[in-house]
Amino acid sequence: MFDLAVIGAGPAGCATAIWAAARGLNVLLVERSEFPRFRPGECLHPGIEVLFRDLGVLNEVLERSSVRPSTRTVVSEGRRSVERFGADANGQWQGLHVSRADLDAILLTRAQQLGVTLHIHRSRVTPLSNNGKIEGVAFDGRMFRCAFVVDASGQCAWLTRALGRKHLPASPRMTVFYGYCHGHLPEGQLFEASAAGWHWMAQISTTVVNWTSLHFGVHQRPLPPETMSSLSSCGRSGGADVTWRMAPSVAGSSFFITGDAAFITDPASGNGVLRAVMSGIKAAHNARAVLTGQATQAEAAQDYRTWMRHWFEADTAQLAHLYETLRKDWHAPSFGDHATLGV
Ligand SMILES: Cc1cc2nc3c(=O)[nH]c(=O)nc-3n(C[C@H](O)[C@H](O)[C@H](O)COP(=O)(O)OP(=O)(O)OC[C@H]3O[C@@H](n4cnc5c(N)ncnc54)[C@H](O)[C@@H]3O)c2cc1C
Repeated sequence: MFDLAVIGAGPAGCATAIWAAARGLNVLLVERSEFPRFRPGECLHPGIEVLFRDLGVLNEVLERSSVRPSTRTVVSEGRRSVERFGADANGQWQGLHVSRADLDAILLTRAQQLGVTLHIHRSRVTPLSNNGKIEGVAFDGRMFRCAFVVDASGQCAWLTRALGRKHLPASPRMTVFYGYCHGHLPEGQLFEASAAGWHWMAQISTTVVNWTSLHFGVHQRPLPPETMSSLSSCGRSGGADVTWRMAPSVAGSSFFITGDAAFITDPASGNGVLRAVMSGIKAAHNARAVLTGQATQAEAAQDYRTWMRHWFEADTAQLAHLYETLRKDWHAPSFGDHATLGV
């Protein structure tokens, strides 16, 4: 019997597990892949620093982050500008560029230090439900009862699929492609946008530059950005479906859905890992509020659904604004009403 069973040990799942275990909850963390496993997404939003401090991993992440930009250079329709991330009484905000293998290992180690039970499963994970309430998970011929199940399975969207539901799309189909090159990018972070799409390039270690590209309406691998044509490729390359989409219900009386499993917007939003970590903490916080009698199940679920919905709306409005300035014919389909999303 566990307080929480968390499916997926990426940033969302580990943040849930760490926050809950640090406050005395009994957590089962279930992952399907052996670590280290590859994931793109090395440029972390400056706002993540305070969350890493709260999770007790900031020093380890800073040790592994060799690039810390405080600006992003934007080239749009030939015009070049430098955007600062912001500042406060403590100084300039800085992003963190860190390999995902390093970040995910730091988070998983912290979770295990706090007593989280990790299982790498070999068979499919099935939710155990009783009259619509999820009471645990089953895999590898074993059953684990728990008060809450947290889906942190990323794009796999384990729980939404297991419940026979589908994510609701909120944009035309969009595919991003990414790759890595040996070399140096003077700007640290460079975002080039035009009516055809955008390229995002970032120095992610002292010797490696990452590129991520989105071409509107193109779903087959394009060439890397011209800016990087003189650099030699290294490491992995690939593509991902980043059509904006959200799970029809991101929380119920016995479950929360976090990170990419809850919703996806394209990487131009620049906050995928931040959102994964923050939603993991929020899910753990709301589950604990129920377990300690500070909120009812219905209140905790409703609060989480509203919070996630607002974030999704803010991200998609900001991206839609960017794309409207690039293309006259940009049109994001409307997203359905609150009732459809269970808000
Ligand atoms: C090309 C690209 C570039 C990006 N760049 C950035 C960037 O620069 N900065 C940024 O902040 N974000 C970026 N993102 C987004 C970012 O990668 C994601 O938002 C982030 O990884 C989401 O974290 P997560 O924990 O929700 O999911 P994930 O990191 O995908 O972790 C999910 C985990 O669940 C496990 N899992 C899946 N199914 C199961 C199952 N059935 N049982 C058990 N375990 C399971 C997986 O193995 C994985 O370990 C990018 C995305 C793409 C596609």
